[in-house]
Amino acid sequence: MRGMERFTGSFTQQEPIPEDAIAAAVAVMRHGRLHRYNTLGDEAGETALLEQEFAAAMGSRHALAVASGGYALATALRAVGVKPGDRVLTNAFTLAPVPGAIASVGAVPVFVGVTEALVIDLDDLAAKAAGAKVLMLSHMRGHICDMDALMALAKAQGLTVIEDCAHTMGARWRGTLSGRHGLIGCYSTQTYKHMNSGEGGLLITDDADVMARAVMLSGSYMLYPRHLAAPPPEVFEAVKYDTPNVSGRMDNLRAAILRPQLARLSDQCAAWTARYRVVEDGLRGVPGLTVIDRPEVEDFVGSSIQVLLLDWPDEAVKDVLARCLKRGVELKWFGGAEPTGFTSRYDSWRYAPSERMPATDHILRGIIDMRLPLTFSLDDCALIARIIRAEVGAVGQALGARVNP
Ligand SMILES: *Cc1c(COP(=O)(O)O)cnc(C)c1O
Repeated sequence: MRGMERFTGSFTQQEPIPEDAIAAAVAVMRHGRLHRYNTLGDEAGETALLEQEFAAAMGSRHALAVASGGYALATALRAVGVKPGDRVLTNAFTLAPVPGAIASVGAVPVFVGVTEALVIDLDDLAAKAAGAKVLMLSHMRGHICDMDALMALAKAQGLTVIEDCAHTMGARWRGTLSGRHGLIGCYSTQTYKHMNSGEGGLLITDDADVMARAVMLSGSYMLYPRHLAAPPPEVFEAVKYDTPNVSGRMDNLRAAILRPQLARLSDQCAAWTARYRVVEDGLRGVPGLTVIDRPEVEDFVGSSIQVLLLDWPDEAVKDVLARCLKRGVELKWFGGAEPTGFTSRYDSWRYAPSERMPATDHILRGIIDMRLPLTFSLDDCALIARIIRAEVGAVGQALGARVNP
C-alpha cells in the first residue's frame, strides 16, 4: 500500500526559453531593429528567416508569422474570401479563439459534433455541409480525425479546409504533417503551445494568391519583397490594392526566440508523447474511465491528455476533480455548465447560437483534460497517473455501491 502521495509540480509551468534563443533575443535588442521591416542593407531579419525555416520544416511553399494563433485563423478566413454572414463550419469541441476568429470577420460559426474519439463527427459534418463553403477544422487537444475521409468529404462538398493546428504543430496523419492537408494551416506560438514566444502565430499554404492576401492583411505596407517565404512580387500586383491592412505582424524579438525552438521541435514532440504514454498506461483498466485509443496512423503530440468519465453524475466528476486537486493534480472538466479558465462549451459562446447536440453533450460532459508540460519528468507522470487512478477508483466504487447496493 502506498501512502497518500502528492504531486507538487505546476501544470502551467513550461520550460525556460533555451539559452541560444535568449542570446538571439538579446542580439535583437542590442541592435534595436525589432520591427520586421526594419532591416539594414540586405539583412533578412529574424521574422523573415523564421518564416523561411517554418515553411521548410512544414514542407509548405509559403509561411507567414503573425501576432497570435487567433489572428492567423481570422487572416486565413479573410484570405479565402469569407464575408460577413457566411456560414463557417467548425468543431463543437474546441476553444474560444476558433469561433472567435469566425465571429471576428462577421461570419457565423456552425458547430459540428464530436465523437468518443474526440474528433469531428464526419456524419454530422456531412449533414451540415450544405450552405457552407469553409470548414475551420480544429485538431482540438491534438486529436486528428481520419484526414483521408475528411478531405474526401470536403472535396465532394466543395469545402475549403483551414486547419487549426494550435495543438498539432509537429503531428502527422499517415505521414503528412498536420496543417498540410487543408488549403491553410494555422499555428499558435503562445506560451502553452508547442513553441513559446509568449504570443504569436504562423500560417502556411502552398497557394500563392492566398499567401499574398495574408501578407497584405498582416500589414506589410508594400514591403512584401522583404519576405523570404511569400510568393514573388507579381502575385501581389493582383491583390495589393484591394486587400485591407489589418495589422498583426510578428516582430523580430519573438521570431528570434522561436527559431532555435523550431530546430528542436521534433525532440520536444517526442518528449511530450513519452509523457503522454506514461500517463495513458497508468490509467488503463480503471472501471468507469475510458482511455482514448489513438489510431496507429495518427502520429500525435501528447502535450495534453484527455480521458472520459462517461455517464458519471456531475457531482461525482466534481468530487474526482476536488480529490485530485487536493493531491496536487489539476484536472479540467469540459462538461462544466459555466466556462472556467480555458474550458468552455459551444453553448457558452452565446454570440454564436447553436442547436442542441445531445450526442455531443453526452461526450463533452465526460471529458477530463490535463496538460503535460515538459517540466514534468516521466516519474512525475507515473505519480500523476497513480493519483488519478486512486481517486477515480475511490469515487467510482462509491458510485457503483450506490447504483448497485
Ligand atoms: C491556443 C489556441 C488557438 C490560438 O490561440 P492564440 O491564443 O490566439 O494564439 C487556437 N485554437 C485552439 C484550439 C487553441 O487552443
